[in-house]
Amino acid sequence: MSATFDVIVIGAGHNGLACALDLARAGRKVLVLESAAQVGGAAITRSFAPGFQVSACAHLLHALPQSLLRDFALEQHGLRFAATAMATHALSETGPCLRIDSATVTGGSALGEDAANYGLFRQRMGRYAALFFALLSVKPPRLSLQRWGERWDMLKLALRLRLLGTASMRELLRIGGMNAYDLLDDNFQNPALKGALAFDATLGAEYGPRSPGTVLTWLYRLAGEHGAGTLGLAQPAGGMGAFSQALAQACRAAGVEIRLSAPVARILVDQDHAVGVALASGEVVAAATVVSSAALRTTFLRLLGAEHLDGGFVRRIDHFRAKGLVAKLHLALRDLPHFTGTSAAALGGRLLISPSMDYLEQAFNPSKYREIPQHPALEITLPSVNDASLAPAGQHVLSALVQFVPYDLGPDPKAARAALLENTLATLERHAPGIRALVVAAELLTPSDLEQEFGLAGGHWHQGALAFDQFFVNRPLPQSHQYQTPLPGLFLCGAACHPGGGVMGFAGRNAARCVLRQGD
Ligand SMILES: Cc1cc2nc3c(=O)[nH]c(=O)nc-3n(C[C@H](O)[C@H](O)[C@H](O)COP(=O)(O)OP(=O)(O)OC[C@H]3O[C@@H](n4cnc5c(N)ncnc54)[C@H](O)[C@@H]3O)c2cc1C
Repeated sequence: MSATFDVIVIGAGHNGLACALDLARAGRKVLVLESAAQVGGAAITRSFAPGFQVSACAHLLHALPQSLLRDFALEQHGLRFAATAMATHALSETGPCLRIDSATVTGGSALGEDAANYGLFRQRMGRYAALFFALLSVKPPRLSLQRWGERWDMLKLALRLRLLGTASMRELLRIGGMNAYDLLDDNFQNPALKGALAFDATLGAEYGPRSPGTVLTWLYRLAGEHGAGTLGLAQPAGGMGAFSQALAQACRAAGVEIRLSAPVARILVDQDHAVGVALASGEVVAAATVVSSAALRTTFLRLLGAEHLDGGFVRRIDHFRAKGLVAKLHLALRDLPHFTGTSAAALGGRLLISPSMDYLEQAFNPSKYREIPQHPALEITLPSVNDASLAPAGQHVLSALVQFVPYDLGPDPKAARAALLENTLATLERHAPGIRALVVAAELLTPSDLEQEFGLAGGHWHQGALAFDQFFVNRPLPQSHQYQTPLPGLFLCGAACHPGGGVMGFAGRNAARCVLRQGD
């Protein structure tokens, strides 16, 4: 047994670090153990070709709450932004692109009344997003409502809903269970605008725009944007790894000890209580509380062991759905490509290839049968446009999210992977003629690659499907929705918990509050 800590946090992803930082600031002696050689988990920067750096998994901050930035003083710990409030450009193969931000849409063709409707629609959705944001930042209540504090929390949520007013409340109840396709079709005409908005409703989820629950996943996205406020879509200077480094720096300044290349092999139990961990090296570290940000199955089945859990709970873990549909493409480019219908300024923003909701639905359909899309939907950034440090002088990095790529690539994964790369490059070539000739190196990470490299369950954005049955009081599982687990002294703090994934830190911070209140 080496040193003793109040709390051990497993994993130095941003949720583990956010949890550790809040605990250390509350006076706890905290140790973070990370299996990788650098902090950040799925928010890191790494090389993928000589001289080329990329944010290898998450590549944009789109939901970073202002409160996290302020409370943790990340800018004092070295965080700089290469770009903030980045605009979205919906690409077209033939005509000018649409420029979309949180209040306006311009450009493209035949916008007609959609331009004015868009602002009003976003205002309406913005009110729901604010309500939703309030849900993300609190621990879900216990439905038994035995304690006054829990009754009060529920009352506050009910009051917020009521304050929307009768008409808005009725509208929210009407649209809440709809799919994004129908909602957008009700409100807009322009296919490119609808395609771009539906892209955000489905990004990171396992849904096409016609799937039930896509208004929920879109509200989740919009709630994140609400929290980010004026920061909007942002690119940290030095990539996402620089964000994680600043968070780690803030942790260290608060007294947190972070050990890298220190995989935890077992969570130790004594008299039905977590009492510490054993590292793969054999070292044992004791702590009164263990908090895990690792994937659900990793925490419970690999590190703890099913023998400490009842059969029903183990079955629920087995049934927790977590199969991602987003792949990642990294290209090293010898020069800047030109995308049809865009200005040079657009290349510093976010580019979408999702020209209509039908295109998006057709890209989604093959994934249901473990097949890859012929025409994938893409979110593209060229991070080196805003941050020259990421590529050799005059050269560029392209980082793209590729929807919808199944976790299971079918009987011939090698052939499927090659076809996916080909289909994605062909899609890019149609929108940026000549781009193929600029490619110096390419890296494609499918959901199963992402699972291997980052430990994300199923390579899933949220470490588990974000769906009504796995949301709020049911996330990750009914017995663990308040970050605690059936084993006293063991807590969860990763994206598998409420509210889910995206670099926003709520799972970590909500968990820290629960750890601090244990025994209350
Ligand atoms: C392809 C893709 C693109 C994405 N793009 C974006 C984006 O642009 N913007 C955005 O906001 N979000 C994005 N996301 C989602 C986001 O990356 C994740 O939701 C988020 O990073 C999860 O953070 P976390 O701290 O909960 O978990 P993680 O970042 O997964 O951290 C968990 C940590 O635990 C460590 N660990 C696991 N087991 C052990 C062990 N036994 N011992 C020690 N350490 C262990 C892991 O190494 C890891 O560092 C994307 C996700 C995917 C899959």
